[in-house]
Amino acid sequence: MQGFVAWLAYNGAEIGVPTNQYEVVRYLAHAEGHRKPVTHIIYAKESGLLTFMPGTREHYAQFLGIEGDGSLKSKMNRSKRMSFRAQIIARDGKGCWFCGESTTAATESIEHLVPRSQGGPDTLANFVLAHRKCNEMAGDMCLGDKIALRDQMRGAKA
Ligand SMILES: [Zn+2]
Repeated sequence: MQGFVAWLAYNGAEIGVPTNQYEVVRYLAHAEGHRKPVTHIIYAKESGLLTFMPGTREHYAQFLGIEGDGSLKSKMNRSKRMSFRAQIIARDGKGCWFCGESTTAATESIEHLVPRSQGGPDTLANFVLAHRKCNEMAGDMCLGDKIALRDQMRGAKA
């Protein structure tokens, strides 16, 4: 979501601070039919599933460069994985989603952010590039905990 937040800021949205544990991103942005910027929020449910307020799904889809709901249901064959990888790097930048350190083919893997066991979809929005090690550390944490772990790992180095 860091990449998405950066993209929002770049596109003129005013980034807010989440007011509770279920908010993943909160921002002010112009919306059709409103004179003033409107609060937009993306929530993560207990299960980790993302819930999009009106307008936010479209923003996120634009950010990902995907039309419609971004559903990519086809099987993850090798070429698909490679193209996913390129799209994830285009979105998040290079490096592990958790620790931010660079990855190599030997150390990296493409992981579900919300595990399939928790209803996480096979969509680009739900995949990140991460070290196998870092991902193992995260295990089956819910999205909120993963984000906390990520902040912790990155904060620890700063
Ligand atoms: Zn890592």
